Amino acid sequence: MGYDNDYDSKKKEVLCIRCPKGCLMRVIMQKSGIEVIGAKCENGITYAESEIICPMRLLTTTVQTVFSGQPRLPVKTSGEIPLSRFPEVLRKIREILVRTALQPGDIAAKDIAGSGIHLICTGGIDNDQDTAFY
Ligand code: SF4
Repeated sequence: MGYDNDYDSKKKEVLCIRCPKGCLMRVIMQKSGIEVIGAKCENGITYAESEIICPMRLLTTTVQTVFSGQPRLPVKTSGEIPLSRFPEVLRKIREILVRTALQPGDIAAKDIAGSGIHLICTGGIDNDQDTAFY
């Protein structure tokens, strides 16, 4: 890939988090495409390109429950979602109220905000919990 005129290009540094080596990459965005410098493997190039075009992340948070002893249940998304959709997804997550004693690995909510991604429990609720709040 050739270099365009400097006036037509933008540069950004991206730290690769795909493995512990943590390569610091320079991404050059040009009219002709994206060039990645400093990646030691193809995974890094793919990561850098996705960070520029559409950064994706797993989301970890908690949801509200009806159980007085465990009012919040930790959850994570079943896959990465675009960072730009986090506000919309978090709004939907705030509406969730868990009414059963879910366990780690259970699905707390399906297809969250139409993303095709489920919300998976990373913690559990003891079966002997009171439901004093609701
Ligand atoms: S570019 Fe490759 S070697 Fe470097 S941190 Fe990313 S995955 Fe690891």
